[in-house]
Amino acid sequence: MNIVGHLINGTLSEAAERTQDVFNPATGEVTKQVALASKDTVEEAIAAAQAAYPAWRNTPPAKRAKIMFRFKQLLEENAEQICAMIGEEHGKISHDAMGELTRGIENVEYACYAPELLKGEHSRNVGPNIDSWSEMQPLGVVAGITPFNFPAMVPLWMYPLAIVCGNTFVLKPSERDPSSTLFVAQLLQEAGLPDGVMNVVNGDKIAVDTLLTDSRVQAVSFVGSTPIAEYVYATASANGKRCQALGGAKNHAIIMPDADMDNAVAAMTGAAFGSSGERCMALSVAVCVGDEAADSLIEKMTEAMKDLKVGAYSDASNDFGPVITEAHKNKVNGYINSAEEQGATIVVDGRNPQVAGFENGFFVGGTLIDNVKPGMKCYDEEIFGPVLLVVRAETMDEAMQMINDHEYGNGTCIFTRDGEAARYFTDNILVGMVGINVPLPVPVSYHSFGGWKRSLFGNLSAYGPDGVRFYTNRKTITQRWPSSGVREGVQFSFPS
Ligand code: NAD
Repeated sequence: MNIVGHLINGTLSEAAERTQDVFNPATGEVTKQVALASKDTVEEAIAAAQAAYPAWRNTPPAKRAKIMFRFKQLLEENAEQICAMIGEEHGKISHDAMGELTRGIENVEYACYAPELLKGEHSRNVGPNIDSWSEMQPLGVVAGITPFNFPAMVPLWMYPLAIVCGNTFVLKPSERDPSSTLFVAQLLQEAGLPDGVMNVVNGDKIAVDTLLTDSRVQAVSFVGSTPIAEYVYATASANGKRCQALGGAKNHAIIMPDADMDNAVAAMTGAAFGSSGERCMALSVAVCVGDEAADSLIEKMTEAMKDLKVGAYSDASNDFGPVITEAHKNKVNGYINSAEEQGATIVVDGRNPQVAGFENGFFVGGTLIDNVKPGMKCYDEEIFGPVLLVVRAETMDEAMQMINDHEYGNGTCIFTRDGEAARYFTDNILVGMVGINVPLPVPVSYHSFGGWKRSLFGNLSAYGPDGVRFYTNRKTITQRWPSSGVREGVQFSFPS
């Protein structure tokens, strides 16, 4: 059986002291094994990145960017193959995989601006004959640790930008769907990247812990669930590293009584059930202001959900695929069971749907649950499945208070026709990414992506301008060349 190995110093390696099964979630079959790196293997990758750093750091940014231009071209040429790999191991439908890859490529396009992004700042004559400028210097070896749900896009949030900024990189992808991530990294190598600048180690906690504690790693970008994000942030910080750790989510949409309900239902159907709800920006809670809005939403959503098609990634007419593993399917079903036990109303029940020809797949159908309240397990925790909860609120302030009280603050959205209400919402909501009639307000590559509260540990968001700041150290230089023959006196007061 195929083993998905590592990319170290420009060479594919299958060093596999231990392996783990990789499944096709649509069939439930094991299709591959993924190598789980030992500490030694990870150290080998760090050493390769460390050795490649001095020459790469001194490579002109425009030359680094040229490699990214070629990489973008290769990603586009190989897009269908990449999407098929994503579908086979993640389960998402080909059109959804193409959406993820397209957003990832936009991050490569942003990285192509390297010479512009790294220009720094310059001030002439900050004092008599004194000039001052700030440079953005690379950090050294940077590590990235990524989740299963965007095996192409989330790694592309990290390493193109880190690398054009002059760093070298070690990526630890999700062990659950590793093939597309490794293949994409090989394309960067093919684009002309020197050996050792980009390395991939597949693995589990052993690989992660090695990256978090090795003194040669200067910074860590993490994306995944909140408990692991918190652990990664604490461990990396305790080991003196810069860290940004993006965690889980519970994204609420407020449905105002004046909302265009047909458009809101269409928007929420895609945002709640697309990719089986396995998106950190998925809308998983609809908070309806007033019973009239709630009843109308339930009626129209129930109707829309009759057309939902769950199935295998290879049939582009499907709306969404299976969830990632059997264990995750059971977990999602467990949340639906708990909602029922705690008094919520299951309006559309997606437990154990029948998918002809894929009886052993890890499928959960679209599920709609009404009369959910804070304090219920299904409300308090992230489900990460195709489940939309409906909560009823009497006022907009009550709806906003629920969002502000929730531990997560990744994304949110308001559906309304009232500009004043929308402005009040964006001003006062404690969430990092906010949509107004936009259900998935994922920032474009030249802005930055990051939640608030326990959805992000660290001060800087991912990619965009924050990404450049994260992957560089600012150095400010103040320079004077004394004029010949002019003697400077001793000065004891603070220079001003
Ligand atoms: P996860 O936390 O299980 O895994 C993420 C990474 O951490 C993987 O590479 C995994 O190997 C590693 N890991 C897992 N357990 C570990 C441990 N005990 N010690 C050290 N490393 C460990 O997350 P997942 O299930 O792959 O992804 C889904 C989660 O990611 C959801 O919570 C989702 O909301 C979140 N997510 C967040 C964002 C965001 O931008 N905020 C984006 C995508 C996904």
